[in-house]
Amino acid sequence: MSIETTEPIARTPVQWRETMERRGEAAYRGGQIFKWIHSRGVTDPMRMTNLSKALRATLVDEGLGPVMRIERVHQADDGSRKLLVRMNDDSAVETVLLPVSKKTRDADAGAVVEEDQPEPEPAQQSVRVTQCISTQVGCAMGCVFCASGVAGLKRHMTAGEIVSQLLVAREMLAPNERLRSIVFMGMGEPLHNYDEVAQSIRLMTHPDGLAIAPRRITVSTSGLVPEIDRLGADFDGEVGLAVSLHNADDEARSALMPINERYPLKTLIAALRRYPDKRRRRITIEYTLVAGQNDAAADATRVAQLLEGLRVKINLIPMNPIEHSRLGPPAHERVRSFQKVLTDAGYLCFVRRRRGDDVSAACGQLVLLGGKPTKAFQRRQPDED
Ligand code: SAH
Ligand code: SF4
Repeated sequence: MSIETTEPIARTPVQWRETMERRGEAAYRGGQIFKWIHSRGVTDPMRMTNLSKALRATLVDEGLGPVMRIERVHQADDGSRKLLVRMNDDSAVETVLLPVSKKTRDADAGAVVEEDQPEPEPAQQSVRVTQCISTQVGCAMGCVFCASGVAGLKRHMTAGEIVSQLLVAREMLAPNERLRSIVFMGMGEPLHNYDEVAQSIRLMTHPDGLAIAPRRITVSTSGLVPEIDRLGADFDGEVGLAVSLHNADDEARSALMPINERYPLKTLIAALRRYPDKRRRRITIEYTLVAGQNDAAADATRVAQLLEGLRVKINLIPMNPIEHSRLGPPAHERVRSFQKVLTDAGYLCFVRRRRGDDVSAACGQLVLLGGKPTKAFQRRQPDED
């Protein structure tokens, strides 16, 4: 991406400094502008008070300014907040803030957590928040159980728009909440929009900006193999990878997710095996359970065989029903039996609850994070899912 074509909001400090120098301004001004945007969340140049009026005006002329606004906020009972953000061309996407409890963190780390033991959490203790972000308006991948897939791709989001989801959502954080991790699990296929997604990661991890640690970022993909390799190489395996599997049989997987025809399981699994793993971090395998499609014990056995030898954590997500589709989640017992096959085979395997969906299930797909291990699931009624 050349400096000229990078939208102002998505320039890195180096790009900003070069831009300033070419204009005869002091290079450090570029660093100041980057901090205004990415550390203080100020995108309107008129509010950048340590810059000259002339420079502010130039930035406005160049098109620097807010790229989205929060249009609606749905607060769920579990503390998560789903934001509908409207972009300047009038398209909208969703982003979700998920307060992460200590229990969930332990579960993610693989610890066995006894749900019945209440933990004293002092009121002042800071709460870590995970934010789920979108990368495209719609999605071109056409997975049959997904609202974005059924809608099709409207357009890619720019790096500036992707990172702006973090900038605008900051206003929604409570004083004791701290944005800690990012999951690319919202609308769209992140690796289909690779360049903009990669640039957004560079921006959000920059120490002069939001300074999110790369290891706290997880990119979820339906399995675009060349881009999985690029992600691994560009970020040296620091960025976490989540892969949507949904079936361990090629024919059945292709019926659920057409991308499997281009990158079948053998190719996909080979890419997972070579994904750099310096931190010995597990790859997350997402498996949306669709009644009658991929939820039999035999399907689970195939998954166990397919993933043999890979360091993974498996998240089972009972499908969230979507409009215009008769597909739906399996019965509670079936979900548990599926999980048992995988746990018995030695896998770390959780059933994930879709947080935030109690207030708005419209997107059908957002937010699969922050679920609980088996015990909590066992206590829920089947129709809660
Ligand atoms: N495109 C990427 C990331 C966004 S989708 C991907 O597919 O991985 C994030 C997750 O939501 C994926 O695992 C996807 O399979 C899952 N998902 C989509 N629609 C769903 C639904 N209706 N119910 C449950 N999970 C769904
Ligand atoms: Fe796109 Fe992911 Fe939905 Fe598939 S599941 S259509 S890849 S957003």
